[in-house]
Amino acid sequence: MIKDKIWLSSPHLSGKESVYVQDALDSNWVAPLGPYVNQMEVALATQTNTKAAALLSSGTAAIHLALRLLKVQQGDVVICQSFTFSGSANPILYEKAQPIFIDSETDTWNMCPIALEHAILSAIKENNKPKAIIVVHLYGMPAKMDEILAIATQYQIPVIEDAAEAIGSTYKGKACGGLSDFGILSFNGNKLITTSGGGALLSNNEPYITKARFLASQAKDSSPHYEHTELGFNYRLSNVSAAIGVAQLEVLEERVAARRHNFDYYKNALQHIEELTFLEEPEGYFSNRWLSCILVNDKNNKIDPTKIRLALEAENIESRPLWKPMHLQPIFKGCMYFGHKVSENLFLKGLCLPSGSNLSQEDLNRVVLKIKSCL
Ligand SMILES: *Cc1c(COP(=O)(O)O)cnc(C)c1O
Repeated sequence: MIKDKIWLSSPHLSGKESVYVQDALDSNWVAPLGPYVNQMEVALATQTNTKAAALLSSGTAAIHLALRLLKVQQGDVVICQSFTFSGSANPILYEKAQPIFIDSETDTWNMCPIALEHAILSAIKENNKPKAIIVVHLYGMPAKMDEILAIATQYQIPVIEDAAEAIGSTYKGKACGGLSDFGILSFNGNKLITTSGGGALLSNNEPYITKARFLASQAKDSSPHYEHTELGFNYRLSNVSAAIGVAQLEVLEERVAARRHNFDYYKNALQHIEELTFLEEPEGYFSNRWLSCILVNDKNNKIDPTKIRLALEAENIESRPLWKPMHLQPIFKGCMYFGHKVSENLFLKGLCLPSGSNLSQEDLNRVVLKIKSCL
């Protein structure tokens, strides 16, 4: 008998989505603007303690607009965490700028502040001071923001926080996405909450967000006909999608609690196994545990993440390697990289376990039993 599929991270509806979507349809606000767009923008700014939010078609679009607002252009360099999803870095290439990739440190798996400073000094030596720093709170774990912001302030470089995976995470009591010049969120189907696809740009600089909304709706100047003095994009989110998002935001805290429960369950059940390790939260860091990850280190090379992944797959359980670092991706071949292979090692040793907030106790137990049987 084939058992039910256990997904890595699938959408988890609260039930209110269909009510709000029906309301959006009934009101005929079926367009990339409307009351749910406005409502979700206010709710996101409140959630992240930022001045304003622009609701957009994706997290990638949000990073792209942040780079446009910072006037990144051809020939510029932009610093980006290497250990991430390609959505963090692709917008640098959209603007024909050059990424410089920074390795991770081992405490949070995010941007290493030491490698960051090396990269900045090297770029300044080349007379090309980086135009922005894109730091990621990967898998929901906040990056070392005090250290990174101190360096960014010292060299006066704006910071974009990629909090696509980190809604609901906090750093020293403050929401991820609201700690620097810009924050971005993603509401893709696999993220902690979803609009079926969407994203947001956050900032404490309201004029930036006003400008982002303008650029995201084709940069239409105010005149009866359509007049364009700037290059625009079609990056706004539909009011129908935003209706889903408003319902999802209402249960954010429960979703974070469920994801954290998954992590605690895996850790309690598996941490005694010598070959497996988990990423702990440093003091003051609160992760939403978007995905629960393990590292597999076996001195005797009997077990590795691939073996576990294939064993899970045979039981109809989805798991995935950790993100492959950007400096190893063919699309970014030849780009500069600063670091000491921390992210390469994480990629080789890591595995993301099923982590949806909709997993049952039985699902979690099935995963644990299968992993134990491999060891
Ligand atoms: C999902 C994700 C993105 C991109 O978000 P989309 O909404 O899919 O465009 C960017 N960065 C990270 C780290 C992500 O996980």
